[in-house]
This record gives sequence, C-alpha cells and structure tokens, in this order.
Amino acid sequence: MKITLIKPNIGRLAHSLYVDEGRMEPLQLGVIAGLTPPDVEVVLFDDRMETIDYDDPTDLAAITVETYTARRAYEIAAVFQERGVPVVMGGMHATLIPDEVRQHCDALFIGDAELMWHEVVEDARRGKLKKEYRARPGRPQPGTLTRRDIFKGKGYLPVSLMQFSRGCRFACHFCAISVFFNKTHFIRDVKEVVKEIESQERKLVFFVDDNILSNHEAAKILCRELIPLKIRWISQASIDMTQDRELMRLLVKSGCLGNVIGFESIDPDNLRSMKKSSNFIGGFDDYRTPLKIIREYGLQTWAAFTLGHDHDTLESVKATARFAIENKFCFGAFNILMPYPNTPLYGKLEREGRLLYDGKWWLHPEYRFNYCAFRPARMSPAELTSACFRARRDFNSLGSIISRGLDPATNMRSLYRFLFYMTYNPLYRKETFKKQGMRFGLSNHRAAERMDLLNV
Ligand code: SF4
Repeated sequence: MKITLIKPNIGRLAHSLYVDEGRMEPLQLGVIAGLTPPDVEVVLFDDRMETIDYDDPTDLAAITVETYTARRAYEIAAVFQERGVPVVMGGMHATLIPDEVRQHCDALFIGDAELMWHEVVEDARRGKLKKEYRARPGRPQPGTLTRRDIFKGKGYLPVSLMQFSRGCRFACHFCAISVFFNKTHFIRDVKEVVKEIESQERKLVFFVDDNILSNHEAAKILCRELIPLKIRWISQASIDMTQDRELMRLLVKSGCLGNVIGFESIDPDNLRSMKKSSNFIGGFDDYRTPLKIIREYGLQTWAAFTLGHDHDTLESVKATARFAIENKFCFGAFNILMPYPNTPLYGKLEREGRLLYDGKWWLHPEYRFNYCAFRPARMSPAELTSACFRARRDFNSLGSIISRGLDPATNMRSLYRFLFYMTYNPLYRKETFKKQGMRFGLSNHRAAERMDLLNV
C-alpha cells in the first residue's frame, strides 16, 4: 500500500506559483508518516515548492488543510478524486469547519492524528474508508518519532521543527488554537523530545508549540533536559514568562534564542476586549517591565501583532510599527486581524453583520492575501489593509533592519545571533512584499481578474 501526503500551497502570484522563501518542514506530515505502519510506503509532495505528480500511483491522498490553504487543498483533492484516488483531509481547518471540508474529501479527519490514524490506514487498506474519523486532542506523539526522511532533498530551511506541547491555557477571542484544543495544553513526554533531538543532526530547533510556556513548571523540566544537548532553539510563548525569573534563567541556559510573542496590540482596551489575559498578568504597563526583563536575559523577540481590533485607528497601527522598531525586535509580524471560522471573534463579527466576502474569505475568488476581511470599527477595510502594509514596509525597511540589528543587548549579543538575524531578516523582508495581494488557489480566478480590470 502507498499513501501520498500533501502540503498545499496558499496560491499564486500574478504569473507564477508562489514559492515560500521561509519554507519550513511540514512537521505535521512527518508525524503522520511516523504514525504510519512501516509496511506502508509514504511519499510527500510539498505543493509550496514542487509539482504534485498525480501520475505517481497511490492508494490514498492525505491532505492537511489550513484556512489559508483550503482553496488550494480542494483543487488538489478534486484532481486525485477524478483519478479514482480516495482523499482524506485533516488539519486545523477540517476541525474548525468540518461541514465545509467534508464536501471535498472521501474521509474527514477531525482532531489529532495520534489516536486514530492507524484506523484510517487499515480502513484504506481494505478499501473501506469511513466518511468521518473523530479523534480527541491529546498528548502529542506518544511513542512516535517524526519521520524526517520524507523531508530530504526538498530544500527546506536548515532548522528542525519539533513539538513539546500543543494548545494553550489562554482563550484569546480570535484564536483558532484555543477553539481546536478547547483551552487545554497537552504536553509530550520530555524523554521522547530528547530522543527526537538526539535522533537527528541539526543543532537549531524550532519548537512549533502554540505556547511552549503555557505551563511554566513543565517548561522548566524541558529546559533542564535540553541543557546537556547544547542546541539553540526558538519557539512561541506568551509574555507572562517574564513573571518567573527561574524560568527565564533556564530558557537562557537551555539555548533558547528567543520566542515569537503575541503582543497583538499596544492598546490595553484592545487587549481586554480580545481577552488576551496572558499580557495582563502582573498588570499592564505598556509592556515596559516585561520587555526590560526580556532584554536583561538577552532573548531576541519575534513580535506578533493583530491589527484591526475595535479600538485600533490608523494612528495606532502606525504607533505599533514604531513600538516594534524602537524595541529592536528581531522580527515583527503585522497581521491583519483575521476572523477564523468558529472562533468567538468570527461569531461576534457575524452577529454584527461586519464580515466581508460572504463570510468565507478563504474561498472567495476576490479575496487576496493580507486583505482585511471584515469592517473595522474605526476605519475602512481598505484603510486597514494599507495601514498594515505600511507597518510591514516600515519595519522591514533597510534602515530599520540595520538599527534593530545593532542592538547589543539582543540581536548583536553574539556573532551567532547577529548572523542569524542578518540571514533571516532580508529573507522575511522579501517574503513580506512578495505575498501581499496574492490570490488563493491556482484556478478559477476569472471573476477576480475581471474585477481587477474594472478597477483599473
Ligand atoms: S496566548 Fe496565543 S495560543 Fe494562547 S489563546 Fe492566546 S493567541 Fe492563542
């Protein structure tokens, strides 16, 4: 038996397929491969950088679907189905909006793969796939190492992706993770994490955890185990880590370079209304105290913002970019607030009649990447789209890259950190401009193209 794993692209640029400059290994598919019995052949096609060979015979196509890749995923599924290959779909989007996804596959997989993937494989082997598999979220990868051989030769960045945990204890109202894992944080056996690190050669690891520091005591255990391995690592974490000095010390000792931190907004009214309680623990003081502590420990910061909350104005979006430059962040993501299906934010905007693109921006032929998909409270959708683009442009300007890079406390703390900063900043700068306005999926854009012509 043979299974073909597919990581769909987002879409296309004006005249070509979009190729992600910051392309990372699709960890979730390496985990699926690791869960698959050894007598089953597994191949991976990463649509972000290679052509899918639909002529390569296979018994099952397994496609991971995210909201941003849903349109393209459905196109790929249709080609496999036309050739008589059954399709199973899973991933975040499949769990968020199952009724939509089930229309495009033979079998829908809801939840985490670990508990039920073996059942899918055995049913496919017998030609008796069920319409739906519903698994509960739980401990990541028990007894399973990621199969990295399927990533070989594809041209991924030289960073190994792994996971220590999934989910998060917080409940920010826009967050799809919080919905998927029902505000729960699931932790992997730390010995298995160590084994996985030792089973591969790279010394730079990106833990893809949604919030690796959601449970401080568990994170400390992980850090202590990482110290002897002498790796360097990055992950995603909430800023309340700065409340725990022992945790901060252990992060540094274990080789943590820094974390992606969800600041979301610099306005406390926004933070309160989005229920970003992680940013309020210990009181809110314009982030001055937590940022001082982070700098004291020399950690770099990948700052993530969501812009377009109800208290945001054009001026506050500008001020957010200034804040990120002044604090010398290593990277900054100035994301437009996106209503992901089935999140509390989506429900609120739907009730208030503020959703655009018929409420399904991820499928709409006129929707473009980084465009606002709802009516913001204090500006127009087009104004928010442009303001966010300008924030990205300012943060990624050459002057900003140089001034942030020369920060002795963080980005220039060591030669390694500086080289790391200088390698990835130009790459992300390029990516920022390339992706803006990209269409989703590869086909059926005739309506959108007509609109473009009319706009011209
Ligand atoms: S802290 Fe981050 S991962 Fe946790 S609920 Fe909020 S946005 Fe989601």
